Amino acid sequence: MRPFEVKSPRTLREVVLSLPDDHRPQGARLVAGGQDLLTVLKDDIEQPTALVRLRGVPGLADIAVSAGGALELGALVTLQDLADHAGVRAAAPSLAEAAASIASPQIRSQATLGGNLNQRPRCPYYRHPAVVCFKKGGNTCLAEFGYSKYAAILGGGPSYFVHPSDLAPVLLALDATFHLVGKTGAREVKARDYYVLTDVALDAESVRRADEVLTKVTVPAAPAGLRSTYLKFKERASFDFALAAAAVGVRVEGGKVAEARVVLGGVAPKPWHSPEAEAALVGQPMNAETWRAAGAAAVKDAAPLEHNGYKVHLVKGVLFRALESLA
Ligand SMILES: Cc1cc2nc3c(=O)[nH]c(=O)nc-3n(C[C@H](O)[C@H](O)[C@H](O)COP(=O)(O)OP(=O)(O)OC[C@H]3O[C@@H](n4cnc5c(N)ncnc54)[C@H](O)[C@@H]3O)c2cc1C
Repeated sequence: MRPFEVKSPRTLREVVLSLPDDHRPQGARLVAGGQDLLTVLKDDIEQPTALVRLRGVPGLADIAVSAGGALELGALVTLQDLADHAGVRAAAPSLAEAAASIASPQIRSQATLGGNLNQRPRCPYYRHPAVVCFKKGGNTCLAEFGYSKYAAILGGGPSYFVHPSDLAPVLLALDATFHLVGKTGAREVKARDYYVLTDVALDAESVRRADEVLTKVTVPAAPAGLRSTYLKFKERASFDFALAAAAVGVRVEGGKVAEARVVLGGVAPKPWHSPEAEAALVGQPMNAETWRAAGAAAVKDAAPLEHNGYKVHLVKGVLFRALESLA
């Protein structure tokens, strides 16, 4: 075990000032519930000299639901609180469903919203202490030519890991905004613009700078009549990450889809917004033919590797079932 210092600031300003200016693996790291970061340390993927605790900062664990159904969620809200909160379940059931689908009760009681949205990839090559892949400063993605069962079929290259968060696709579909505070001030980023592909950045999965803290997530009230769900397909019945998942919302008017939102999980290095699937839905009746067309459109540009062609079919099935459940 490598020694590291633990800092417990009491204000957000102190937290931000304790964080480094770049994503070097040896820089200080923000820690919330520690459910991802401690595994990253154990696997020697990062070697921080200091962990900066966020839990000492008051006011970051609150959930507020407006009368109209808009949500304000503090970064330190636990996944179990998200899953259980009556106001969240009523205003954004797909978000509560996604939170409930994550890991085990023990992990959900410690893991936080901010940590879930900023967790590192779970690719088995990336997580292997002896492997130095693109994501760790190396010059290859072993999933591309090696074992690719869990790798991306969309948006891959140069690295082919899949984004692990179940909450992220839902928050994109709900048109959420992420609120960040860093050394140079505060800014807001749409969930849809937060995550980046690996041809944009290899040392990070989002536009968040190393000194920035995600402080809260806001979700606007859903338009009247919009129904949403989150469906996740896992390899085993017990807790597991998604092989493919779909966060879907539809609003039907006069028997036809007037608005559609489709974001896929488990298939790309970022939550995969699919305007193609949305276009295949809008203007069409909610029936099996339409759902099949949406699935075909969602995987139109899929480029599977040697062992993950099954994900193309899985996406179609997950999307079909998610849409069917909303009909
Ligand atoms: C056995 C197991 C199964 C799991 N299954 C799933 C699953 O099915 N679906 C899923 O989505 N997840 C799954 N996870 C991942 C789990 O949800 C995350 O590890 C957890 O949510 C991380 O939250 P945390 O508060 O513990 O984060 P931490 O471990 O404290 O932090 C994680 C990362 O986020 C950064 N970070 C934390 N908070 C903030 C913030 N406010 N602003 C900016 N950066 C921040 C940290 O610096 C660190 O890099 C699983 C984990 C385990 C161990």
